[in-house]
Amino acid sequence: SYEINIAVVGSSGCGKSALTVRFMTRRFISEYDPELEGTYLKQDIVDGSELTFRVMDTCDKEGRDPSRYLLWTDAYIVVYSITNHDSFVEAQKYLELISQRDVIIGVVGNKADLEKSREVTYTEGSNLSCQYDATFHEISVAENYSEVENVFLTVAKDFLRL
Ligand code: GDP
Ligand code: MG
Repeated sequence: SYEINIAVVGSSGCGKSALTVRFMTRRFISEYDPELEGTYLKQDIVDGSELTFRVMDTCDKEGRDPSRYLLWTDAYIVVYSITNHDSFVEAQKYLELISQRDVIIGVVGNKADLEKSREVTYTEGSNLSCQYDATFHEISVAENYSEVENVFLTVAKDFLRL
């Protein structure tokens, strides 16, 4: 059996908690305490192997030291919202910070259901991911569970080379 620690990072409001809780429970929780940080466990069978996901839904406020996940995690999911360009700029900062160590990274452009409010193009997201050797997915946590699951499985398979 295998284990993976995944830290979900990104700016406030991009959907990190919604993404994490959706993966854990299959449900979309639309309102979640924005300051809450937590680690969740999920067991799965991936390609015939037992896999334990430990997922940290992070919240970087003033004074919280990123080493709590930098030193803990095997892989990252870096989230931004396609409807918020600032969150995309934040994502670049996270990528710069976390790529100082050799880790698996998946980049997620969330809220793809809000096409009319788009501020970040697919190409911008995909180019940024390429620069950091990360996989890239545009998804809607609100509307599509299988896209959410695919993000976590992709990262786990990259890490475990399953
Ligand atoms: P966090 O601060 O990164 O943890 O963000 P949250 O998970 O708390 O989500 C922030 C807000 O975005 C909430 O109001 C969610 O309902 C909303 N949200 C999250 N994912 C989606 C999505 O895929 N589509 C839409 N339309 N809203 C979303
Ligand atoms: Mg949150």
